[in-house]
Amino acid sequence: MVREYTLERYARQLPLIGIDGQRKLLKSTALVVGAGGLGSSVLPYLVAAGVGRILIVDKGYVDLPDLNRQVLYSEDDLGKAKAIAAAERLRRLNSSISIVSYIMDVTDKHFEELVMSADVIVDCLDNWTARFVLNELAVKHLKPLVHAGVQEFYGQATTVIPGQTPCLKCIVPKASDRGEPIPIIGFTPAVLGSIEASEVIKILLGEKPALAGILLVVDLKNVEFSKIRIVKKSDCPVCGAYTSAS
Ligand SMILES: [Zn+2]
Repeated sequence: MVREYTLERYARQLPLIGIDGQRKLLKSTALVVGAGGLGSSVLPYLVAAGVGRILIVDKGYVDLPDLNRQVLYSEDDLGKAKAIAAAERLRRLNSSISIVSYIMDVTDKHFEELVMSADVIVDCLDNWTARFVLNELAVKHLKPLVHAGVQEFYGQATTVIPGQTPCLKCIVPKASDRGEPIPIIGFTPAVLGSIEASEVIKILLGEKPALAGILLVVDLKNVEFSKIRIVKKSDCPVCGAYTSAS
């Protein structure tokens, strides 16, 4: 049951998604993996839109160089666990939904349970090693995975619908992590995170995500957005065995 005050909170988006759509969001669980720059952009919009249950996974602690882009945090949060500090901040934005923090990474033995309990997974990670683990779990449990990655002034995003679209391993066969901090400036994850939030909301409403089977490449130096159609690899070690039933 959507209560009156809850409806009032969402008044400006109800003409877009309807009361039934709002109820869908309120009944949904989003698993947001990574509460850094991308997470700082995705999380407030999912919380504000009324996604009813939001699970935040991050094992890091707030450090001064994070503050150029991780706008969820303030100087008062330095040294705090990101998953906890993020949840505290976000509960002040919307106390009527459930926000749960997990100080862990994707290799934790309990992480898979979170994947299984989610309706959608949001990749807000900063490295391909962890991303591949997330990709495998999303495909294994047939959970939609909204991906974005950022570096410098550039970013990319796609939405993986297991069984229908390419997975992350289809498009990036090998991890290419630098092993050192990636140069980055705040507006890049802000833009890519907003795009992820828009995909998450569409998925939860039961609409077709715009980036299913499409890689969006964003160049904010020149403010250019390109869409590239991507194909599923039939011999992909992760998703090759899963094909669409439709
Ligand atoms: Zn694949």
